[in-house]
Amino acid sequence: MTEYIILGVIVVFIYFALIKNKPVRKTDWESLPNFEEYQAIEKSHNEEGTLCCQHCGHQEMVERTLKDKKENPENNKFYHACTQCKVVLWRSQK
Ligand SMILES: [Zn+2]
Repeated sequence: MTEYIILGVIVVFIYFALIKNKPVRKTDWESLPNFEEYQAIEKSHNEEGTLCCQHCGHQEMVERTLKDKKENPENNKFYHACTQCKVVLWRSQK
């Protein structure tokens, strides 16, 4: 009987240790730079002051809504992608 109690305590201890030590996962959206950060990154590449894609230099971007219901329950999170090379450049929240 005591063995089961000790085993139970160990299981509970391991369970909480694992939960507590679990790092908060950064989502893909959260790892994107925001608009100000992107401007700062891009400024080093472009002397004319126009905002370009940092990968191909294209100047047209499209705004898309983050489709993940879990990450974007209020539909106020967006990402901006280059229309030329389709790379996502920055995120925004309204
Ligand atoms: Zn591009």
